[in-house]
Amino acid sequence: MKPVIALVGRPNVGKSTLFNRMTKSRDAIVADFAGLTRDRHYGDGRLGDREFIVIDTGGFEPDSSSGIVKEMAKQTRQAVAEADAVVFVVDVRGGLSAQDHDIARYLRSVNKRVILAVNKAEGMQESPLLAEFYELGIGEPVPISAAHGQGIRSLTEMALEPF
Ligand code: GDP
Ligand code: MG
Repeated sequence: MKPVIALVGRPNVGKSTLFNRMTKSRDAIVADFAGLTRDRHYGDGRLGDREFIVIDTGGFEPDSSSGIVKEMAKQTRQAVAEADAVVFVVDVRGGLSAQDHDIARYLRSVNKRVILAVNKAEGMQESPLLAEFYELGIGEPVPISAAHGQGIRSLTEMALEPF
């Protein structure tokens, strides 16, 4: 069985961009519109000779009707349930939001390996801004840039480490 990595996080943090990097596909919809990728989305990833599956999710969208909020939260729960490891994506440029805290609370309650990826961190590997993300209680923030392809390999290695 290939290990499964779920990408979760609020809209617009760069999950679909990361999905495309990890799967080297253009399949996920990447957009400036928050929450456009509403369906779960599966792709094949490879790291050296190790193969894995990546799930993209739409995340939570609290500004929309409660129907969509519930549906997206359900998709995230389903993706996490299917996953061996979860990559929780946050945005160093947008900073922490209430949604990030809500997702973190949920992920802390789930007995799964969770890696905290701080995206949009191109040129910010040593930035003091990264320290803020410790307060999510998910562990060490891992700076990445999905758009620029930085930190993706070590992030993937960390996610797959026990598998
Ligand atoms: P999603 O809603 O979490 O799936 O986010 P998307 O992957 O659709 O990306 C949302 C926006 O963030 C898009 O405009 C992306 O181009 C942008 N973005 C994604 N990754 C990065 C990154 O590493 N750096 C910067 N500066 N922008 C990024
Ligand atoms: Mg998306």
